[in-house]
Amino acid sequence: MQDFDVCRVIGDELRLTQVIINFISNAVKFTPPGGAVTVTFRQMHKIDGKLHLMIRVRDTGKGIKSDFISRIFRPFEQEDASTAHHYGGSGLGMAIADNIVKLMQGEIIVESEEGKGTEFVVYVSLPIAEGDQTVPESWKDDRTADEGVDKKKEVEEFTLDGIRILLAEDNDVNAEIAMEIMEMEGALIERACDGLEAVRMFAESPINGYDAILMDIQMPNMNGWEAAVEIRKLTRADADIPIFAMSANAFVEDKRHSLEVGMNGHISKPVDYDEVRQRIGEALLDAPGR
Ligand code: ADP
Repeated sequence: MQDFDVCRVIGDELRLTQVIINFISNAVKFTPPGGAVTVTFRQMHKIDGKLHLMIRVRDTGKGIKSDFISRIFRPFEQEDASTAHHYGGSGLGMAIADNIVKLMQGEIIVESEEGKGTEFVVYVSLPIAEGDQTVPESWKDDRTADEGVDKKKEVEEFTLDGIRILLAEDNDVNAEIAMEIMEMEGALIERACDGLEAVRMFAESPINGYDAILMDIQMPNMNGWEAAVEIRKLTRADADIPIFAMSANAFVEDKRHSLEVGMNGHISKPVDYDEVRQRIGEALLDAPGR
């Protein structure tokens, strides 16, 4: 028994469900018949208007080798070559789960013993809903008020649903993760494998065929900065399309260089997709004609 009532919280139900389903389906997949899978939800404590939650998925399956545990959240990692053969899968589920939980400022703890079983525990804290509240105060839509639309709120409410993005990324793993996460939100993504291809794809696309470009900087053939310069030089009405650099180089000079070549901003890697959504939202809401 808990020492407080069950309370309603505000959070991204869809994503949290996706994480838990990934853990449960793995637990079922890696546990032979006769074994057990137990799922526990626990309200831990309430602090500063937030409810700290624990969600645990425990199985009595084959377990995970200790040397693999440190790699389990890396994209496309499976324990060994026979895993895909026996159990299928892509090794992407854990990387995505980890990304989602990190975006919620939560954490995942894994404990496993080979031959005995595995336990995944997710800790997240979510704002407690007041009364009938279903969205936090800051998300509330006051567009019925005569004051007009508050841009900050519009940006907060902005989603990538239906947004057409040209993603220039040479690294397959980074591209796959970026596409998976943004497509989950409804974004329509086309990928270029280097700067040259990005310029070509943009140049060959119909006017306003893309809403934004996400551009890795270090790419073969033509880097992201050079590609941005080429795109800005094109004599087409949408050559001012929002372009954001995505790079592990978070040095001030790199950020400044991104702006100097005409990009709209510089997003540091590892990419925070809330930031991507917000930056694209700001750029598109500033240019409503797009
Ligand atoms: P997939 O299940 O598609 O291979 P995941 O990223 O979800 O990809 O999992 C990566 C790997 O982690 C799995 O292939 C498996 O080797 C290991 N793993 C995940 N969950 C479990 C579990 N409950 N028991 C044993 N191994 C697991």
